Amino acid sequence: MLILVNNVGSTSLKFKLYSMPEEKVLCESKIERIGSEKGSYLFQNCLSLYKNSIPNIPIESYSKGIDLFLANLTDKENGVIDSVNQIDGLGFKTVISKGYDGTVLLTDDVMQGMKDYLFIAPIHNKAYIDAIEQFKLILPNIPMIGVFETSFHQTIPLENKLYSLPYEWYQEYGIARKGYHGASFSYVAKQARKDNDYKYIIGCHLGGSSSICAIKDGKSFDSSFGFSLQTGLPHANRSGDADSYIVPFLQNEGLSWQEIRQGLDNRGGMLGISGVSNDFIEIQQAIEVGNERAKLAVDVFVVSIVRYIGAFSAEMGGLDKIVFTGGIGENSAMIRKKVCDKLEHLSVKLDNF
Ligand code: ADP
Repeated sequence: MLILVNNVGSTSLKFKLYSMPEEKVLCESKIERIGSEKGSYLFQNCLSLYKNSIPNIPIESYSKGIDLFLANLTDKENGVIDSVNQIDGLGFKTVISKGYDGTVLLTDDVMQGMKDYLFIAPIHNKAYIDAIEQFKLILPNIPMIGVFETSFHQTIPLENKLYSLPYEWYQEYGIARKGYHGASFSYVAKQARKDNDYKYIIGCHLGGSSSICAIKDGKSFDSSFGFSLQTGLPHANRSGDADSYIVPFLQNEGLSWQEIRQGLDNRGGMLGISGVSNDFIEIQQAIEVGNERAKLAVDVFVVSIVRYIGAFSAEMGGLDKIVFTGGIGENSAMIRKKVCDKLEHLSVKLDNF
């Protein structure tokens, strides 16, 4: 059985084709900086070790990325299958759907639930809806499964997820912290506790979207993400935590809701502070040539991470292990060091291997 797993990030697209039940990866592909002039594309045939790596290619949309990958996947010479019709099922790391959670078949109702929550997950749900609809056109008869990011966070206690807002807003509209990046953190919880039953783990998923998760006894205990994906740490383009009264204040100053939303969704985050880029590698490059605002963006990012680690270790009553994931967390030794250096008072020591 061939299963294609799709990870549609806020700035990236990643694919892996698995042969089941042996869980053998036949090929993988990674497309980064979608929408930028300087996108990158990588396809790797895990059977023949053929690699197609294009470091500088403008990939203007998710649908262009999918087309590129499918062409490589079915390429006569270097692909791994002859036709997309050989795929038996598709899996998506979906974000949020009104009324649905966990692992579900992507029926019309589930897709409608994703559309209903476009307002709180505009970038992520839009990208997934577009990608899934494109695949449904190409492969109309194969099952497509969504694993929703919110399900790992069902265990967050009510006192950790409730805002101090009118209680009926929680009852009527479900306004409470939801938590996202559940697939990543459930994997962190499993892997980090493989050899040792660590009670208190903090996961730092740092990428185009970033969040911190407190994992107590292997279960989600708190998340820096709130009701929407707009909260917590600074993201690539999105603001992260911002006082809710900033919005009515700016409206009163004469900015339209569209202008404010643009600022929160597209012109905020690491791009907003640095003024250079939403991409961490480009921000690092700007720091190397002395750009002060790029340095400031990284400093704000680090302080935000440290703030949540401090708060969550206090909330859990301990800290045994910090785990870094996501494009930045996995690859930037600089960020890991900056964060750990600020946590010496919690006896955090960086393993310099
Ligand atoms: P998404 O949330 O879109 O899935 P990723 O988890 O793929 O994003 O992370 C993308 C981010 O990771 C980008 O800002 C990119 O610059 C950064 N990144 C990737 N590789 C490196 C690296 N070697 N060093 C520092 N940052 C990196």
